[in-house]
Amino acid sequence: MPAKAAKPQKEPAKKRAARRSFGLAGRVTLLAIGAAVVATLAQWIATPIMAYGEVEHQRALGATTGANVLAEIATLDVEEGDWDEIRDLVDALPLALPEGRAAVFDANWKLMAESGSSRIVPSLATLQDLLKTPQKVLTIDNRVFAIRTIGKPDRILGYAVYSFTPRSALGIWLGIVALNAVVLLFALAVLAPFLVPLARRALTPVIELERAIRKRDPRDKSRLAEAADDRVLKPLLAAIDEVHERSEAAMRRALTMAYTDPVTRLPNRLRFVSKLESAVATEQSLYLVICDLDRFRQVNMSFGPRVADMALATVAERLRAAASRCTPNAFFIGRIGADQFGVLLSIAEKSAVSEFLMTAERAISESMLLEDQQVRIAASFGVAHTAQDGAAAGDLLKQAEVALKEAKGLPGARRVFFDQSLLAKARSKSTLEEELRDGLDRGEFVAVFQPKVRLETGELVGAEALARWRRPDGAIVPPAVFVPIAEELGLISQLGKSVMRDACFAAAGWNATRNKLSIAVNVSPHQFDDPEFISSVYQALDDSGLAPGLLELEITESAAVADPDRVARIMWPLRSRGVRLAIDDFGTGHSNFASITRLPFDVFKIDQQFVRALSTDPHAPAIVEMILAMAEALGQETVAEGVETKEQADFLLRRACTIGQGYYYSPPLPADEFDLFVRSWRPRPADRFAA
Ligand code: C2E
Ligand code: MG
Ligand code: MG
Repeated sequence: MPAKAAKPQKEPAKKRAARRSFGLAGRVTLLAIGAAVVATLAQWIATPIMAYGEVEHQRALGATTGANVLAEIATLDVEEGDWDEIRDLVDALPLALPEGRAAVFDANWKLMAESGSSRIVPSLATLQDLLKTPQKVLTIDNRVFAIRTIGKPDRILGYAVYSFTPRSALGIWLGIVALNAVVLLFALAVLAPFLVPLARRALTPVIELERAIRKRDPRDKSRLAEAADDRVLKPLLAAIDEVHERSEAAMRRALTMAYTDPVTRLPNRLRFVSKLESAVATEQSLYLVICDLDRFRQVNMSFGPRVADMALATVAERLRAAASRCTPNAFFIGRIGADQFGVLLSIAEKSAVSEFLMTAERAISESMLLEDQQVRIAASFGVAHTAQDGAAAGDLLKQAEVALKEAKGLPGARRVFFDQSLLAKARSKSTLEEELRDGLDRGEFVAVFQPKVRLETGELVGAEALARWRRPDGAIVPPAVFVPIAEELGLISQLGKSVMRDACFAAAGWNATRNKLSIAVNVSPHQFDDPEFISSVYQALDDSGLAPGLLELEITESAAVADPDRVARIMWPLRSRGVRLAIDDFGTGHSNFASITRLPFDVFKIDQQFVRALSTDPHAPAIVEMILAMAEALGQETVAEGVETKEQADFLLRRACTIGQGYYYSPPLPADEFDLFVRSWRPRPADRFAA
């Protein structure tokens, strides 16, 4: 299931009510005031930063200007030696400039006049020092001093000292802030009564619009514009209607897409499961059918994804047609997996379900002509029923899947209704799976060897390695039981590698003492999925020391025709190293001979059913002859499997079959017994001239 979309955080009810009571105009006004306040604050912060240098400059200017003016005014009086006048002048200074203080010295640095009661003049040495750089000022205890000479530079009559305590930067800043605040408050008080109605009037259409939209019932599907007579409002409402309709349509489209399979236009798994859940809760009797397409991956690989998609759409259509014929108005179909469809049938009669299954199976298996290509698809069906088998949707799905799994393993018509015994079977299968894993880890899988004999001379030419599972209790499990499970569990590679190594080592042992005996090893197509398959074969050959020409890999005909390109891709490198390839169970895979002959095979193994049928089925000899003739024409070796009688061996020799394998010579033998067999073997040639 896809993750739920995160819900947007809900605004608290209180906040929403407050927002509504202010109204749009109120909110716009508040916003304007807020902006003004923020701008003022910003100015307050920026002022002292920008004004800092300026304040310093003003301080210096204040002090030097004071000293200059004092020196200038005092010049005449000093020239005339009227020191009383100067004293009056200096005494009067604090009256005009409360922060300012002054002092006048004569040319010999004698203090002649000083304003203020306390002595505030710094030391003479400091003043004389200050005089050397006339533009400089001196700051002592936050008081700024400047000094100027009285008279001309060539005739110094005295010295004028001026000092004052400037206001601090903080003081200036506070002054500006206070003033600004007063102005702002005043402006607000004056303008607010005008601003609010002004904003209200300007925003009237929007406010009306807001009201109209708020008043509207969300289920009301009529157009907003139809409810308004206002000339300004109408186009706005019409525009909103349009946007609303468009977004609703987009939402509907998105929802449809989220719940629809784009290939078949059927509800997808999400939608199907939700329908299943509601149907399980409401329907008295509900059948769930899972329809699974057999080997659909193959269709995809052989015809490409485009044709495969068209095939899926055709299957969907055929399923729908079958359902509407058998259970009209009581079905629901969805695509629930890559090659799986789900069908819900709200009916009570099992017979109607069986009829639907039969009709659907027949319809699906009819050949389809897609882009000029004939495509054939078969399907398997698993069915579960609510009334009988369980209630919850999840249980029903599981039961239908168990039934489907059972159906997939059946030959012929693959339609299975779930019952409890299937569950027990599924459980015992999972126990077997566990044991198989353990068995592989414990090395319980071994190879046995069945001899192969040249029909003409009776000499032993090699053996086929066949896997056996030796259980701890001594029971021997045949490959027909464990190979399909190992394939399903993805363990066949591991198993195949172990048999391959056993076989190569055993064959290398025989060939160390005797003349050439080849070894044939069966390979499952699932092993081709293992990227290390080719290297594992080389490894087994290298480790055992077996000559590659003595190793033969057997691939069943059905595996070869299922994906000839893949088989060729894997087999060419092996073959170029000298490994021989055999096509196993030939005659059972309904192969297209042309595609088979393109594959790099050296040996045809005629399936044992034809050999067995030689004496019972009048057609069998003709089939065997045809296969042998084809192999001969292609210059390939032929091995007849399942040779049980001398008559069969004689017939095969007469028809130019090269090698025989079967109980007539020996059953498969454990490695040590095979060693003895090899040593005691006396050639038994088949009789070319037997009747
Ligand atoms: P196959 O490769 O066609 O092997 C021949 C089967 O015929 C063997 O069965 C063998 O025991 C049986 N057989 C041989 N001679 C006679 C006879 O005269 N009469 C009768 N009735 N049967 C005869 P087995 O060992 O049970 O193997 C069955 C199949 O399992 C094999 O068929 C092969 O396809 C598969 N298999 C066996 N070992 C392996 C393996 O290591 N890996 C893979 N992937 N498949 C294996
Ligand atoms: Mg074989
Ligand atoms: Mg075979």
